Amino acid sequence: MVSTRITRRAFMIDTLGFGNSGAVAVYVVKGGRKTAVIDCGYASSFGNVMQGLRELRVEPSKVDYLIPTHVHLDHGGATGHLLKYMPRAKVVAHERAAPHLADPRKVIEGWTSLVGEKQMQMYGAPLPVDKERIEAVGEEAHIDLGGATLRTLYAPGHAPHQVAVLFEEEHLLFPADAVGMVFPAFPTLLPTTPPPSFDPPTLIRSLELLRQTDPKMLLVPHFGVRKDVGLIIDRTREKTEEWVELVRRLDYSHMSPEQVVEEVRRSIISETGIPIGSFPGYVNVMIRLSVLGILAYLKRGAPGPGT
Ligand SMILES: [Zn+2]
Repeated sequence: MVSTRITRRAFMIDTLGFGNSGAVAVYVVKGGRKTAVIDCGYASSFGNVMQGLRELRVEPSKVDYLIPTHVHLDHGGATGHLLKYMPRAKVVAHERAAPHLADPRKVIEGWTSLVGEKQMQMYGAPLPVDKERIEAVGEEAHIDLGGATLRTLYAPGHAPHQVAVLFEEEHLLFPADAVGMVFPAFPTLLPTTPPPSFDPPTLIRSLELLRQTDPKMLLVPHFGVRKDVGLIIDRTREKTEEWVELVRRLDYSHMSPEQVVEEVRRSIISETGIPIGSFPGYVNVMIRLSVLGILAYLKRGAPGPGT
């Protein structure tokens, strides 16, 4: 089983991304007439999403909307792969994400340079999405599923093309990577601040906007259902600011990026008491990306192009 029921109409699928449970989730909302899938996971894990849909008795050919919250590979990577089995699905994405869904070459190049060829093979490459199938949205859009309304909310900062999604009737918020990573197998929240466009002030504005929607639950991509909404938002802000300050205080211009990553890992060890060899592999990957994103932000000089 990779699927879990959250409410009568909202469901979670563990994509088993990277071969790990509890790392990358996608969510499903079944309205009275229509069905939406929020986030798609890595290209390489699309089969697990299909399996989850089968468990939920959702016929892929009857999915109406795919909503990749942004084009990072753990969220948008599988979009084109899933669409092959979803002939009537529209892809709802921010207008700045749409060109990268239609032509993912820059995304593939960027991620390959960040993580290397071998890791890219584990992620899998996104397929181009037919432009006609993309509904590009701006600040806000409403999607009527029949008794279930989804509202997309522009939520930049983590990426300048990210949307969050609010399930209005049930007050459930899918915050995408506007909130930090809260892996069940790891005891502390980790900021999710990857390259190339992480921008802290913009992220903090998005967090406050999302707080105002007053959700009763957060359905977090990394990972799971959280009812401690205020705490997660507060901790995301605190930890993000703490990591940015930690890196800023290092003599990072005279260090290799990997040395900076090690320094941040050391601070996590002193906070959690978990020895480095015991961090799950996907946690190490995510920490590295977040530190590289902070370095990129500091090196280009604040403020970044996040808005
Ligand atoms: Zn992301």
